[in-house]
Amino acid sequence: MRRESLEKVARDLRGEVKWDEPMSLHCGLRVGGPADLFIEPADLADLRDAIAALEANHIHYLVVGGGYNLLIRDGGIRGCVISLRGLDTLKPLPGARMEVGAGVTNAMLCRVAAEDCLGGIEFLCGIPGTFGGAIAMNAGAHGSETLPHVEKLTTLRQGEVVTQMGPELEFGYRFLKLQPGEIVVSAILRLEPAERRVIEDRMAGYLALRGKSQRVGYPNAGSFFKNPPGEHAWKLIEAAGLRGVSVGGAQVSEVHTNFLVNKGGARATDFLALAALIKQRVEATSGVMLEEEVRIVGEG
Ligand SMILES: Cc1cc2nc3c(=O)[nH]c(=O)nc-3n(C[C@H](O)[C@H](O)[C@H](O)COP(=O)(O)OP(=O)(O)OC[C@H]3O[C@@H](n4cnc5c(N)ncnc54)[C@H](O)[C@@H]3O)c2cc1C
Repeated sequence: MRRESLEKVARDLRGEVKWDEPMSLHCGLRVGGPADLFIEPADLADLRDAIAALEANHIHYLVVGGGYNLLIRDGGIRGCVISLRGLDTLKPLPGARMEVGAGVTNAMLCRVAAEDCLGGIEFLCGIPGTFGGAIAMNAGAHGSETLPHVEKLTTLRQGEVVTQMGPELEFGYRFLKLQPGEIVVSAILRLEPAERRVIEDRMAGYLALRGKSQRVGYPNAGSFFKNPPGEHAWKLIEAAGLRGVSVGGAQVSEVHTNFLVNKGGARATDFLALAALIKQRVEATSGVMLEEEVRIVGEG
């Protein structure tokens, strides 16, 4: 019955459909077993139809952006994975504002904002992934975060379009309160007029800083753990003597100790075991319990 229901979702979709898609292709760490069904709806209407069918048939679904903040378990994902690459609106609006679809990459958003002489989100230029992922994670860097720039957020809750104004949103460090299954489809950003050269110089500066500290050379998901209040996770991991420590193909990067890297052939279980080891050793040496920033999904 479940397979039949998935087949109906796939048949009715106007966008792309893949069966048994290896999720390692959609995960920054390059791990993760297959998704039963992987879809890329053509547009918002196509997405709404797919969600309606999934909800009606009680089929589990998960939205992924670039997968740069995901650890997908080796058993993969039962049900349906949804990529929003088709939601790629990028529309400048009067008053230094821009409407951005969830499937737009941060790199593209920053490029277009610079061309339109709109600043304020330069910090996003080196953060891999999609705008939807940046909103869902409240991605941030260099003292700035995504959500404070949002004037209006549009989401789908169980298939219904919901809009919220910026001040209504509940968010914090790498956190936005969304209801289970709620999907970010677009947002209007309030930006600041600035000279293109100034914006591009700022972005070049940020990218240069990343080049120094984050060129780890292997697939990764950026910072694996959140920084505890008043602390830096990388310093706690370093102090616990874990630089370069590995489990299977998963290793604490030699370059940046809060980046766990896939040295080749790692499985999700390697990363999970390495993360458990790090948490245990850091707690023993510093008394701090680290919390994962990456979201762990899928079947064991
Ligand atoms: C080299 C490197 C550097 C990084 N540097 C930073 C950094 O400086 N700052 C930072 O904050 N992060 C950083 N990251 C982590 C990552 O890039 C960000 O968290 C990014 O915002 C994830 O976007 P994504 O599209 O890949 O989301 P995904 O990893 O695909 O998804 C992340 C979570 O958001 C959910 N999600 C995704 N899209 C939607 C949507 N449209 N609606 C609802 N939920 C959604 C997913 O279900 C998942 O729970 C870095 C990662 C790497 C690899």
